[in-house]
Amino acid sequence: MNFKIDHQKMQVLQNILKCPHCNISWDGGEIYKHFEHLREIGDEYYRDKTDEELVETADNYGWSKTNPIHFRKNIIGIEIQGEYDGILYWECSSCKSRWHRFTGQKIK
Ligand SMILES: [Zn+2]
Repeated sequence: MNFKIDHQKMQVLQNILKCPHCNISWDGGEIYKHFEHLREIGDEYYRDKTDEELVETADNYGWSKTNPIHFRKNIIGIEIQGEYDGILYWECSSCKSRWHRFTGQKIK
């Protein structure tokens, strides 16, 4: 498959917190804060974790102190079998708009 990867647009789409088309929130909360919250409320699995352990957990989801990304909601990854092995498009579950994962182009 041929497409030019636009890293800048890709980055924008990954970090955007609401749908540019219908404005529904895509923000599921900052990843580290999610685990910190679980520790605060005494979650069985997280209550005894150290800050370092929470950073490690968040890191598994692509979060870092320099790139404090958020969980996403109301957006799903679309795979097209036979075209690309993995997510190729992001789709807003509210308005069904789609963007190409690598070029950032809105395609629907
Ligand atoms: Zn939308």
